[in-house]
Amino acid sequence: MPEHSGYSRINQRIAEELKSIVGRANVIFADREKLEPYSHDEVAEDMHFSLPEAVVKPESALEISRIMKLANRYMISVTPRGAGSGLSGGAIPVYGGIVLSFERMNRVLNIDLDNLMVEVEPGVVTNTINEELKEYGLMFAGYPMSLETCFIGGNVAENAGGGKAIKYGVTSRYIMGLEFVTAEGEIIKLGGKVRKNVTGYDLIHLLAGSEGTLGIFTKITLSLVPIPGFRAVLLALFKSTEDAISVVPGLLRVGKIIPASIEYMDRLSVTTTCEYLNEVLPYRDSEAMLLIEIDGKTEDEVSRDYEVVGDICLKKGAFEVYVADNKTTIERVWSVRRNIAEAFKVDTAHQSLEDIVVPTASIPDFMKDLQALAVKNGVDIPCYGHAGDGNLHATVLKPKLWDEEKWLKKLDTVLKELYRITVGYGGEISGEHGIGSKRKKYIGINLSQGTIELMKRIKKAFDPNNILNPGKIFPDI
Ligand SMILES: Cc1cc2nc3c(=O)[nH]c(=O)nc-3n(C[C@H](O)[C@H](O)[C@H](O)COP(=O)(O)OP(=O)(O)OC[C@H]3O[C@@H](n4cnc5c(N)ncnc54)[C@H](O)[C@@H]3O)c2cc1C
Repeated sequence: MPEHSGYSRINQRIAEELKSIVGRANVIFADREKLEPYSHDEVAEDMHFSLPEAVVKPESALEISRIMKLANRYMISVTPRGAGSGLSGGAIPVYGGIVLSFERMNRVLNIDLDNLMVEVEPGVVTNTINEELKEYGLMFAGYPMSLETCFIGGNVAENAGGGKAIKYGVTSRYIMGLEFVTAEGEIIKLGGKVRKNVTGYDLIHLLAGSEGTLGIFTKITLSLVPIPGFRAVLLALFKSTEDAISVVPGLLRVGKIIPASIEYMDRLSVTTTCEYLNEVLPYRDSEAMLLIEIDGKTEDEVSRDYEVVGDICLKKGAFEVYVADNKTTIERVWSVRRNIAEAFKVDTAHQSLEDIVVPTASIPDFMKDLQALAVKNGVDIPCYGHAGDGNLHATVLKPKLWDEEKWLKKLDTVLKELYRITVGYGGEISGEHGIGSKRKKYIGINLSQGTIELMKRIKKAFDPNNILNPGKIFPDI
């Protein structure tokens, strides 16, 4: 854990005070084994692990308010934590202190069928929201692909977006109301069940994506959309990334269709995952694959659309197009896409899963630069992701024979170059996973000093003592 003279350590007396707020059973203190699961998220490298001094599990905004007042009084850092599925080290307690876990705040509070909204606590697993909404034919459409594990509070904090962002947008599109506790312990309510709101600054959209550094969400109101009645998935095989990506503007401009998903997978991603799942996709001769999901109200509408999409793919150079139009085959195809990250972990836990985003039309040139970067540095960098939004998961893999020291040094060089290439195309270094502690040292490659200073002034206004999730986003606070 880095030294930070500004923060106090949690002693027995402070631990007792925390227990008096949330109850004895809801504080973990001085128990390394029980604290350890809260020391990391899904970022694999040891340098992104840090043990909290205490884990506190509140049940209400009021309890959180009291915890934050205590933390300000003693100058203790507080790190909010959802399910820990993050990929930027956002929930890691860099300076120890308190990890605030929302595992007990896990209720769907109200399904409002007249206003088409749902009110939830931050610790609800995202998929649970959609499971509860199913019987009403409704869904929260901004969910990420980790929906079976992540919490909705974590989705708001990262402004998560998944495979359906091209049609449905990301989490922030659906947040109509937000209750949060400030770093100083004040409980604030923003918005509610209104669909338009320009009353004062748009703080909801400032807090969405603030990575747990500006406020602690305690209640979230989400707008809902109808579950589409029919779905079909096309799997299109191409000889080159260029051909595959040329499909994207064609679908929207010529086909006048907005697919629910346009996912890209390169050859190494598909072959590794098929091996991992013992699956056979027809990837022979294919350098690039697109998974395109179409949804709609009627079967006819969906079949009409997928024929148009299939035609455009063939015109743009696809040499095979397969259609999955029943639940089982749709799931088989999606399962390959969803398991790529896991499949790469089998060979090595040491890898860096990136989520850069570039303008869609730049993807083919970006991919050429990425492959040149891989060859130059002697590493594999397979790539897959949300081609419809230009958001790509370039994944830098540690070569088997390299020791840790060589790997970490080379990874730093590769990431710097990767981010410079991305920014060179007018892209951004993170499209959905956030900066957290993992990317904070690289933020200056992407943002100007003036932008960083403005963001720091916003942080100071929300958190004058810098106790809320310090050590994130900015390299020096
Ligand atoms: C297999 C896999 C697939 C993934 N797919 C996607 C994807 O498609 N799209 C995507 O965007 N991400 C994806 N992710 C990343 C991750 O799941 C998301 O970032 C998710 O939103 C994190 O939620 P969490 O509950 O796990 O949050 P955590 O990892 O626990 O925390 C993330 C951040 O949220 C903050 N936070 C948590 N709760 C609160 C709260 N109540 N108030 C304030 N701050 C809070 C934390 O301090 C931290 O900064 C994926 C991850 C994995 C492992």
